[in-house]
Amino acid sequence: MYEFAVTPAVTQLRRPGVIITDVTPGGLADELELAPHDRIIKVNGRTVRDYLDFRFQTAGETELTFRVKKPDGETVDIEFDREEGEDFGLDFEQIVPRQCANECLFCFCKGNPADARPSLFVRDEDIRLSFLYGNYTTLSSITDDEMKRIIEQRLSPQYVSVHATDLKTRAYLLGVSEERADISGKLKTLLDNDIELHAQVVLCPGINDGMQLEKTLRDLAAHYPKVVSTAVVPVALTRYNTDERLTRVTPEFCRDTIKQVERLQKEFRKNLGVTFAFLGDEIYLKAGMEVPSRRHYGNYPQIEDGVGMVRTFMNAFEKVLKNSATESNRDEAVQLARQFFKNVRTHPAARVPAAVEATDRQSIASSRGRKLFGTILTGEMFAAILKEQIDKYNHLTGARLNVIAVPNTYFGGDVAVAGLLTGQDYLGVKDEIKGDFVIIPKHTIKSDEPILLDGMMFEELRSKFSIPVYDLDLKGLIEFLSHNWSPERNQAPVR
Ligand code: SF4
Repeated sequence: MYEFAVTPAVTQLRRPGVIITDVTPGGLADELELAPHDRIIKVNGRTVRDYLDFRFQTAGETELTFRVKKPDGETVDIEFDREEGEDFGLDFEQIVPRQCANECLFCFCKGNPADARPSLFVRDEDIRLSFLYGNYTTLSSITDDEMKRIIEQRLSPQYVSVHATDLKTRAYLLGVSEERADISGKLKTLLDNDIELHAQVVLCPGINDGMQLEKTLRDLAAHYPKVVSTAVVPVALTRYNTDERLTRVTPEFCRDTIKQVERLQKEFRKNLGVTFAFLGDEIYLKAGMEVPSRRHYGNYPQIEDGVGMVRTFMNAFEKVLKNSATESNRDEAVQLARQFFKNVRTHPAARVPAAVEATDRQSIASSRGRKLFGTILTGEMFAAILKEQIDKYNHLTGARLNVIAVPNTYFGGDVAVAGLLTGQDYLGVKDEIKGDFVIIPKHTIKSDEPILLDGMMFEELRSKFSIPVYDLDLKGLIEFLSHNWSPERNQAPVR
């Protein structure tokens, strides 16, 4: 629900405290007679603004006093002791994100159709969400209080959209004055206070690429290990992004960027011992090149930003293939698991899904007991990789799974990632769906409400199909294919 709230950074009007949304029966809070809708406004005399404050003020405390405002306006003080580390048994309202004061050239809000889900128009820029969920902030409108809070409450790491260390270029990209764009002082303060940072560059051809990118990566790497990593992700332009200053990312541009950054990565690995600068998966996919090996990504510091997801999926799938093999095809499974199609963009599945009938029928007959028959929908970008793996799975297990590359007609432009598919896009390929079920990418449904990006409710989408529709993320898909999954666990989120 918080995604729908609009709270400008400079005019945040909120009542103090944090609202309780749920109390575990029999837990400590229940014993204290706390209830949903109560607002905790102080802990041991210190003000609580949100869940993070509550967490900070209670950490390590065993003797506590809560000042609580009840829904009828009454204020009560509750004094109690708790065991060290004892859970309160409380759930709280979500944090209402503050919004940025930027006008980024490439802002995703400008790429939305007018009827897109309201949450897609929220320009959140919140250091709390950065700490909690890895959301990026530009730090350009962060207040002194927020800076203090990061340091005092150790809200580390922070995820920062740097885009360019050259001030003119950064200001141009953010659409703000150089004075506002200049975060060098803030970065220094955070780093001096041992706050770790992960940086991001949204790569815009002709603006912050080439020498600009090299400068940015070198400048950031100079602060390693406090700046832990940098993700370089390509700008994604929908058909609604008509700003003439922006250029679309082409396969050739991606190949040049890979070549350029590989040279720097080599240098960083030699001097720092880590890759440090990571290219988003999309860059490799668009270039038609294989994603790097597992070792390249270390502990996957930027996986939430789409950096290394394809590699983790391929590695996990390798295990699925090996585990799916029977005694008679175990050697073949090991071999298949190691084979990857080199140029995913020219793979036929990138455009046209192969017919299920083409699956090896003999193989199906050999393992009837385990066969699955259904369709997996994904974005055009990932379809080739997924299909390649699914074909191997079909061959080994006798399953009849069909992968469909769903064109994104809603956002259009060069949007080909799975996460931006909409209800309309799924319905557009309805006639191609075969089997007993259909799987859609989980991330296309809002995390706290069963609604898709174009505003279609998940239930409405489901009602249009005569077979079950499951929403699975890559981990869920791996579990599904490993037979560790059941439809009962695949509940759509309820409001
Ligand atoms: S920081 Fe830029 S891209 Fe992010 S929401 Fe604000 S204007 Fe949009």
